Amino acid sequence: MRIDLHTHSCASDGSESPAAVVGSAAGAGLDVLALTDHDTTSGWAGAATAAQHHGIALVRGIEISSRHDGVSIHLLGYLQDPTAPGLLAELERCRESRETRAQRIVELLSRDLPLDWDDVLEHVEPGATIGRPHIAAALVAKHIVTSVNDAFASYLGNGSPYYAAHYAPDPMQAVRLLGEAGGVAVMAHPFAGRRGPIVDDSVIEAMAAAGMAGLEVHHPDHSGDEVRHGTDLAASLGLFVTGSSDYHGDRKTNRLGDRTTDPVVLQQIEDLASGVEVLRP
Ligand code: AMP
Ligand code: ZN
Ligand code: FE
Ligand code: FE
Repeated sequence: MRIDLHTHSCASDGSESPAAVVGSAAGAGLDVLALTDHDTTSGWAGAATAAQHHGIALVRGIEISSRHDGVSIHLLGYLQDPTAPGLLAELERCRESRETRAQRIVELLSRDLPLDWDDVLEHVEPGATIGRPHIAAALVAKHIVTSVNDAFASYLGNGSPYYAAHYAPDPMQAVRLLGEAGGVAVMAHPFAGRRGPIVDDSVIEAMAAAGMAGLEVHHPDHSGDEVRHGTDLAASLGLFVTGSSDYHGDRKTNRLGDRTTDPVVLQQIEDLASGVEVLRP
């Protein structure tokens, strides 16, 4: 059984519709897919219909942006009730702030580059959670850079003078809100240091104490040493370990099924969750 628990659609910053991500997953031979768009569950319905059509199991999820001491922490949530008010309010606040922040980044870029807000909006589906990959897509389309990676390396990285931050809740709060919604919290790419600063293990320990259940140890941005460290840390904190691709369609080189999760871990996630069910064909 092949299980990929971290993917993005154009409900956030992936390039494919939720239905198309599910179709691509079926085509890649996956048995179980989680859709985990940034700060939104608006892709769930389209993905669910497609999952039935393609005969693949769907784990409805999310990737929540949080921040601790200025360091960005992504938290995967699985099978939470999408209507839980506390979580909904935080996600709404985060998405709104992402909009203002993206406009700010584009305003800074536009002082030096031939790029305006409308150029970026061409790459954003109505209602989508906006992120830097959308700005990257516009920079590629305008031939200012040659690839999304190049856009991050030249203009959009965390250390760039064009960078601006958005509102994000504290990770301990995000873990608690997910729990209140009956969801299961897993820290995404905890050691992906090449993207930007990462937190030290004491913060991961505090997140575990707040109710986090797992660590995404197997991720394309982790080195062999990071995988080994994550495996040891998860064992010492009593956390399970997941593996996923973090697929973004053509906005990232990650391919579906690049990393996968053990079926035993999926069962643990199902046992812990009380929000919504895994949809099976
Ligand atoms: P944002 O949500 O706006 O902070 O942007 C973060 C998103 O950009 C995440 O989904 C990452 O996968 C993506 N990202 C971060 N760094 C890079 C990079 N160097 N190349 C491509 N995508 C990146
Ligand atoms: Zn993303
Ligand atoms: Fe992430
Ligand atoms: Fe992601």
